[in-house]
Amino acid sequence: MALQLRGHAVTLWAERLPPHTTSDIAAAFWYPYKAEPRDRVLGWARSSHARFVALAADPAAGIRVREVIEVLRGPTAPPWWADAVPSLRPAAPGRLPPGITHGWSFEAPVIDTRMYLPFLRTWFERSGGVVQQRRLHSLAEVSAAALVNCTGLGARELCGDSTLFPIRGQLVHVANPGLDVVMLDEDDPAGIAYVVPRGDDCVLGGTAQPHAEQAPPDPDTAASILARCTSMVPALADAAPLGHVVGLRPGRPTVRLEADTLADGRVLVHNYGHGGAGVTLSWGCAQEVCGCLEAATGSTPPR
Ligand SMILES: Cc1cc2nc3c(=O)[nH]c(=O)nc-3n(C[C@H](O)[C@H](O)[C@H](O)COP(=O)(O)OP(=O)(O)OC[C@H]3O[C@@H](n4cnc5c(N)ncnc54)[C@H](O)[C@@H]3O)c2cc1C
Repeated sequence: MALQLRGHAVTLWAERLPPHTTSDIAAAFWYPYKAEPRDRVLGWARSSHARFVALAADPAAGIRVREVIEVLRGPTAPPWWADAVPSLRPAAPGRLPPGITHGWSFEAPVIDTRMYLPFLRTWFERSGGVVQQRRLHSLAEVSAAALVNCTGLGARELCGDSTLFPIRGQLVHVANPGLDVVMLDEDDPAGIAYVVPRGDDCVLGGTAQPHAEQAPPDPDTAASILARCTSMVPALADAAPLGHVVGLRPGRPTVRLEADTLADGRVLVHNYGHGGAGVTLSWGCAQEVCGCLEAATGSTPPR
């Protein structure tokens, strides 16, 4: 989308399209989680935050800016990503779950992927972008003058990248009992817990199992997620269950965002391995991809 907005003629090839991608599964609230390296992630997260806040002005985008409360087990220094949000402050005691005395509060976008991904596709196509559903067996199959590789976990096969690994995540969807604050506890001894109110529903998480491949939702895991989230947000006790989902985050020691070349000399920019923060980093990475591609091809945007 960012390339198209800069005036390049973009064709997107994808084997799977929404609603069948990892990005569809994401709880999709802004939070830099399981993505490295921190110095680059900070910049990408900051500019994506600003972009999502601006996009939230359009109700069709499915983005709401919500207060996020991060639960802490005691006083701690500000998180490493504090500079990426304009509004980090200690949470007011009345906003914290029962028995918790410390927490951070900040504003962050919650992206309802059910609306946002179709919105993005419509915007892309109306701006002249072309979408083709197609599985690639080699990047060289693509006839374009330059390529951007955003294949997520698919780069394991497509590029033979053995440093990529899945981080399995399971989520529970329930009807929204009237919540409008995101609650997050990364330090619950039983596992990470988060409650992400979208509109009509809430996404409850979660799990992060490295090297676990796709498997159906596990009922015991779902029960544990519900228990952790309900102890943090008691209003969920009677929330009607709506469904269970599992997805594989594209884990990598570091995000791969760099220029490369194909054997025939064409420019290739890789942009994959965003772990648990692909949505959080999306616009910032896309902006850097534009710069990388234009520097490597010597092209300036046509408009
Ligand atoms: C349970 C869960 C919760 C999450 N929560 C959050 C969150 O709250 N916030 C956040 O920021 N992130 C979250 N994430 C992480 C986020 O979903 C991922 O980082 C992000 O979706 C990765 O996006 P991507 O475009 O790289 O990969 P994908 O969404 O997987 O897209 C890759 C695309 O490449 C295509 N492709 C791959 N191989 C080929 C091939 N050979 N030929 C053609 N096409 C190919 C695929 O078909 C697909 O269209 C979560 C993930 C999970 C699983």
